[in-house]
Amino acid sequence: MLDAALDHMQRAPGDRVWTPVADDLRDQLATPLPGAPASPDALLEAMMPYGVGNTHPRFFGWVHGSGTPAQIIPAMVEAAMNTNCGGRDHVGLLVERQVVAWMANLFGFPEGAGGLVVSGTSMATLIALKAARDAAMEGGSRSDGVGGAGLVGYTSSQAHSCVARAFDMLGLGTQALRRVPVNAAFETDTDALEAAIAADRAAGLSPFCIIASAGTVNTGAIDDLASLAEIAAKSGLWLHVDGAFGACIQMAPDLAPRLKGIERADSLAFDFHKWMHVTYDAGCVLLRDEARLAAAFSDRPDYLAGETRGLAAGAPWPVDLGPELSRGFRALKVWAQLTEFGTDRLGALIQRNCDQAAYLAARIDETAGLERLAPVSLQIVCFRVVRDGFGEAETDALNREIVIALQEKGMAAPSTTRIHGRLAIRVNLTNHRTTQTDLDGLLDDVLKLAGALA
Ligand SMILES: *Cc1c(COP(=O)(O)O)cnc(C)c1O
Repeated sequence: MLDAALDHMQRAPGDRVWTPVADDLRDQLATPLPGAPASPDALLEAMMPYGVGNTHPRFFGWVHGSGTPAQIIPAMVEAAMNTNCGGRDHVGLLVERQVVAWMANLFGFPEGAGGLVVSGTSMATLIALKAARDAAMEGGSRSDGVGGAGLVGYTSSQAHSCVARAFDMLGLGTQALRRVPVNAAFETDTDALEAAIAADRAAGLSPFCIIASAGTVNTGAIDDLASLAEIAAKSGLWLHVDGAFGACIQMAPDLAPRLKGIERADSLAFDFHKWMHVTYDAGCVLLRDEARLAAAFSDRPDYLAGETRGLAAGAPWPVDLGPELSRGFRALKVWAQLTEFGTDRLGALIQRNCDQAAYLAARIDETAGLERLAPVSLQIVCFRVVRDGFGEAETDALNREIVIALQEKGMAAPSTTRIHGRLAIRVNLTNHRTTQTDLDGLLDDVLKLAGALA
């Protein structure tokens, strides 16, 4: 199986990017719950070609990390140890605290900072905003809920949907999340933000947090974090930063200055499974004051009581800082990745992806029949095919078909989004296997398909 796994990764560049699950595999999987034991090996191996395709150099969709063969090794150790990282005294928690300490240090957080390795930025955002909510209500929300407290928060129109989902899950309601307009660079308009806060205050509501984006999902825009930190400080609001992929540029020396102000955030959510290429899933929630997490989550019943000695020793336990009790040893693969490649190498690959995005944008700009739809901030390029005589609706339909055809033919896997209402072919480069040849090939394929489909 190890040979098969390595072969699968090695073969990827020559294979299709995405392949719909074969009918016979679907049939083989649709069995009744096995009563008698049987070997899963043949089917395990048969599944490998039918993933998302993000280990392929021409995978450009959404924001996916591309993994590394080395990550198979900590996965083996994790399975062999079968460690529950909800609490107790063992090496799993030591590794997790070390990873969190590394990250707190990377982002310039002060002594007393802390957090958890979690499933991803969606979960990290939920945890961070729970801490923000409970801090705003001095803990009362934990027993009494938020009732008519009138808590409202602010984010930009470009923020990821996980922020509104967190507002929903925290009982605040998605209406309590104000969508502030953005400037031409898709960054939060700070004047509009201040005006929105003032208007809500005047209406008797209780503004409690600002959610900034360090890398928006549509275009990779980075909010002016220093200005947002200033506004948050002046207004007494919590500053949360969604840095799902963008926070990782902290490892690339020429890009890192664009995150100036991130060190002033009250909380930060980001992913290891995107631009650090850790195997799914792994993200991080960091709080500048770990005590805020404990204030939001600790509640140990008798059967989880801590001790000063023995297996129940050690504090805090992750269950004191987040919602999950049983948790896998996710931090191990993160630790292994950071150790094996170091921030220098990971940062250099991030820089290379940004350079590739600039190259792709320049090629689009010089190619007749292609139109770029947004400025390139980091690693995301949004563009479309335009044809004489095509209206907006036909142009949208053509570009959507091009993306689906690229995916179905196994040639490449970009995704789509809308920029100012227009359907864009969205190319995201968080892929260490992508080469310039892949980008040239993508444009050739897009133009060829455009001619055939139009
Ligand atoms: C991917 C992403 C998220 C959600 O992160 P998950 O790890 O998928 O939960 C949030 N914000 C941004 C900007 C993202 O790119």
